[in-house]
Amino acid sequence: MPICRICKKKKLSLVFNYKKNAFAGSLLKKSQIKNEKKFDLKLLYCDNCSHLQINKLVDPGLLFNNYLWETGISNSNIKLINNLVKDIKKYTNKRKKNNFFEIASNDGSCLKIIKKNFDGKIIGIDPAKKIAANANKNGIYTINKFFSAKNSQIIKSRFNLFNICIARNVIAHVQDPVDIFFGVKEIIEKDGIFILEFPHLLNIYKELQYDNVFHEHVGYHSLKSIIDICLITDMKVINVKKINSQGGSLRVFISKNKKHKVSRSVNKILIEESKIKLFNKKIWMNFNSKIKNNLNKLEKLLNNLHKKNKKISVYGASGKGQSLLQLIKNSDKIFDKVYDKSKMKQGLYTPGTHIKISNPSNIYIDKPDYIFVCTWNLIDEIVEEHKKFILNGGKFIIPFPLPKIIK
Ligand SMILES: [Zn+2]
Repeated sequence: MPICRICKKKKLSLVFNYKKNAFAGSLLKKSQIKNEKKFDLKLLYCDNCSHLQINKLVDPGLLFNNYLWETGISNSNIKLINNLVKDIKKYTNKRKKNNFFEIASNDGSCLKIIKKNFDGKIIGIDPAKKIAANANKNGIYTINKFFSAKNSQIIKSRFNLFNICIARNVIAHVQDPVDIFFGVKEIIEKDGIFILEFPHLLNIYKELQYDNVFHEHVGYHSLKSIIDICLITDMKVINVKKINSQGGSLRVFISKNKKHKVSRSVNKILIEESKIKLFNKKIWMNFNSKIKNNLNKLEKLLNNLHKKNKKISVYGASGKGQSLLQLIKNSDKIFDKVYDKSKMKQGLYTPGTHIKISNPSNIYIDKPDYIFVCTWNLIDEIVEEHKKFILNGGKFIIPFPLPKIIK
């Protein structure tokens, strides 16, 4: 029986059953396809604290040691980091050195930009072997480990305290978010700031982003769920901002100094969350039929095109979308190829559906009629980069909130 990862109660209700799925982030070599394992995936709602999460506890080592997502790969992501730097400057002291720590620092892209802007100690931690090694090669000191309250003790004794701790797109991935908060509390100064970025549950609900649910995304957070964790760990949310990332995210600023002034934006977003009844069980029970409805429409659209012998490929081999491809019936027959900019992914096969991943430059050789965009959150960037595909008569398909063809 699974327990809620925030309140630790065993009162979880089923929102949607994704059935057996392969890990969305684990792309395969051809030889690995026959030994691929699939695991149960269910989206659950906590009757006690309203937290949304998945059921399965999968060994995080299995999930992330071979994780291939690289921060530096997307231009929009670099823009977001520059914007983060601006926000950080409101909380740092210009005359002093400011020390930074980043949890799940990935390829070091974020810390590299931080390094250009601030003077001080800069340390990252990331569990993915290959990616952490690359970051170290590029001059960003990166510990190849999972961050936890236990590891925070070792980090503190080795590096002392930090002014700013950043965790971008990581809180959704962790089995025990409360433990992460306790760890951060341990390594930041008395007036240190913990900055979190994560896809906002509000958008997942409003825009029906059910592709956000996969084994690597354990919990789906709101401002309320972050405040709930702060109450347990004796910390305080002092500011929040909406950012254009992952289909709509929040950037939350947390302090362990309880006397810190709280920005008005905190109350504003809390009101917005409660206005659409985000913590009401009924809306999540209805989410089930909304997902089924969207999936039916999508399958109908794709099957019709497939029957007309249209050549359909996919853009984006990120985790997001891989649970969607696994939900769509006959994905392996409907889709020809998956295009992705990451060189690390090219030549590999998608999890569960086993479609070959290829360099987007091949779009102009393969000439698909339609490209189904799994990384729909980057659609503007993709359209900009592939104007030529549209000019040649190609069409993009996006899945949410309603399946739509972009000409
Ligand atoms: Zn709970």
